[in-house]
Amino acid sequence: MKTAVLGGGLTGVTLARLLHEQGDDVIVLEQCEKIGGLCRSRMEAGFTFDSGGSHIIFSRDAEVLSFMLSVLGENADRRNRNTKILYKGRHIKYPFENGLYQLPDADRFFCINEFVKNLIAVEKGEVPPPENFAEWITCTFGRGIAECYMLPYNEKIWNYPADRMSHHWVDGRIPRPPVEDIIRSAIGIETEGYTHQAVFSYPVEGGIEALIRAIAEPVAPAILTGFTVSSVREENGGFSVSDGRETVHADRLISTIPLQNLLPCLADVPADVQAACGALRYNSLCSVFIGLSCDVPGISWLYVPDEATGLFNRISFPSNYSTEVAPPGHSSILAEITYNEGDAVSGMTDTELIEHTVASLVAAGFIPSRDTVVYTGIAREEFAYVVYDLDYLKNVAVIREFCRERGIDLVGRFSQFEYLNMDGCIRSAIDFVRGGA
Ligand SMILES: Cc1cc2nc3c(=O)[nH]c(=O)nc-3n(C[C@H](O)[C@H](O)[C@H](O)COP(=O)(O)OP(=O)(O)OC[C@H]3O[C@@H](n4cnc5c(N)ncnc54)[C@H](O)[C@@H]3O)c2cc1C
Repeated sequence: MKTAVLGGGLTGVTLARLLHEQGDDVIVLEQCEKIGGLCRSRMEAGFTFDSGGSHIIFSRDAEVLSFMLSVLGENADRRNRNTKILYKGRHIKYPFENGLYQLPDADRFFCINEFVKNLIAVEKGEVPPPENFAEWITCTFGRGIAECYMLPYNEKIWNYPADRMSHHWVDGRIPRPPVEDIIRSAIGIETEGYTHQAVFSYPVEGGIEALIRAIAEPVAPAILTGFTVSSVREENGGFSVSDGRETVHADRLISTIPLQNLLPCLADVPADVQAACGALRYNSLCSVFIGLSCDVPGISWLYVPDEATGLFNRISFPSNYSTEVAPPGHSSILAEITYNEGDAVSGMTDTELIEHTVASLVAAGFIPSRDTVVYTGIAREEFAYVVYDLDYLKNVAVIREFCRERGIDLVGRFSQFEYLNMDGCIRSAIDFVRGGA
């Protein structure tokens, strides 16, 4: 049986490797000249940057973590996370609720007081169940933490109002803080949150793309790059897949490409399915790369909730992940800016975005002076984040049912249309191959 895998990102190459290991005939069709999708890395002027935003390797899933680290072998380094939130010029420990002791007095009081008031109200049954993400945030953290950090940060990264987002996806992703931790954190006793990420790994050389290359290595001959799938037709119980020049025939089709790219390739898609697909929300991402001839703070990455500091919601310091991603004596910063087609950021040129980022980082003190900037670059990804709006569950169900009827399997971040990290994508691929082969 021959399987065609649409898309050569992490999910596509993992599927290909696992299917190949069990003896299947598989071909991967990838539109770009390079595999990796969101996990591609750019090497220029001695610097290595992850083009789809800063990536680290971590997971609660022991099997998946061991898979990622074993394929990388010697090319993986472990680091302790040192992550901060920029709040009123201070570097607050991350997650925010674990760094309350670092807040100005009035804000610390606001956060604790509202947390306690909210807790009592919830216990007394006075708080109705949340109906959207904004309500979930407030009824989990109280109005103080919500207004100081959670709401501004989330609205910045999602580029969408939190009260128009669903909250079905947050459990397990945004942990509810234990009361003891909040009290400890408020009086200055160190606590750790998100402990599954407290230590992370990163490739020594090659950026996060090294992980994709290592996974793809045994199936390299089965990967066809520069093949933009433009048509998928059912054919004698199988499929023919074409890019308009070449046609590939397969018995089975697994799509890892965004639903928004898959559906236009199919014939006779009903209007309600097209409408559901058109209504799915997602964010695009612009990554700004900055190479420096000076040191950067010993921070892994830093969340930037306020608009005044800059358009970026996060800056990371790749040269703190591996010594090999910047030339000796140099360091690097990667700034992430989310946007949507038609908004103000989408209308900015690359030069304007780079200028804005450098100027903002100089003003915020992360870059000592413009003279230390020795390299700049930029990358854009149309499909970066799934945005769970209030109609998400209804719309995604319609599309999944349609693809199921057409016999097309959906695996991966923008194919399942779920907020999957790398470990979630690999887990989906493993489960698919174990259950669906
Ligand atoms: C800013 C940011 C930071 C992240 N950080 C982390 C992190 O630290 N740790 C972590 O575990 N995860 C992280 N992730 C998530 C991680 O990037 C994704 O889970 C993973 O890369 C998704 O892989 P995928 O193969 O499912 O999708 P993609 O990477 O989107 O791959 C899809 C592939 O399909 C191809 N394609 C699209 N259309 C067509 C077509 N018509 N024909 C042929 N090919 C096509 C694309 O070119 C692409 O290669 C992050 C994501 C973002 C946006």
